[in-house]
Amino acid sequence: MITTNYHTHTKRCGHAVGSDEEYVLCAIEAGMKTLGFSDHAPYHIPGPGYRMDFDQFPEYVQSIRTLKEKYKDQIDIYVGLEVECYRSEWETLAMFRETLDYCILGQHGFELEGKRVYNYITEEDLMHYADLIEEACAHHLCDYICHPDVILWNYPKIDEPVLKMARRIAETSKKYNIPLELNCGSGAIKGFRKFEDGYRLGYPVRECFEIFSAYHCPIIIGIDAHNPLWFLTDEYLNRALSVVEGLDLNILNDYNLIEEAKKNKKLFY
Ligand SMILES: [Zn+2]
Ligand SMILES: [Zn+2]
Repeated sequence: MITTNYHTHTKRCGHAVGSDEEYVLCAIEAGMKTLGFSDHAPYHIPGPGYRMDFDQFPEYVQSIRTLKEKYKDQIDIYVGLEVECYRSEWETLAMFRETLDYCILGQHGFELEGKRVYNYITEEDLMHYADLIEEACAHHLCDYICHPDVILWNYPKIDEPVLKMARRIAETSKKYNIPLELNCGSGAIKGFRKFEDGYRLGYPVRECFEIFSAYHCPIIIGIDAHNPLWFLTDEYLNRALSVVEGLDLNILNDYNLIEEAKKNKKLFY
């Protein structure tokens, strides 16, 4: 079990279940000490099934802040969002950066209305994905990078472009001191699948974490909870950990993401 999780969704995104309070109660039951909510960021165009609507945002923040106060003797609660680096949404992203405790980057596409990240399969796509992660970090948009290898969800085999992408992401992480996430969400839940070069999870991918290990990148474990019950099982955590077994990973245990976010927020531009 982990005691800190900054990657938590709410049912507002349209593909998660449970009330906000159920996430808090399950986190407390699981023995967690720090719980960060980071639902999918809303933008000026609605994305039903993918993210909350923009007009739900104030109520989301209010709900989490109310729970923070209600359960303050049992758990530390923070409110953030899982954002994308979309230049078209920069004013909105600036507002999130100013208002929220923290932001994490989950780059689910290259532009707001574009193809989803699960459908990219060329080397050019992988480099574009690495570019967006670097741009987000250079602008201090985020405090950690969610599932940095999510773009490999349907990528046919682990080849040189994958390793090149992983090296670029590792360099970005080191340059800006932004942790990378070992994600225990969809990839770990769906389990091992057959690809051209054998069986692996959609993500996390061992070859990427070998590179993150070699660069000694800071790593944070994220549950990516879309259901409060995911806090009460170690099954997905253990499956994600099995992928990186034996690697000398720089997993951060006492990292104060909120303090780091306070510094990063001031640098956003
Ligand atoms: Zn989601
Ligand atoms: Zn997420």
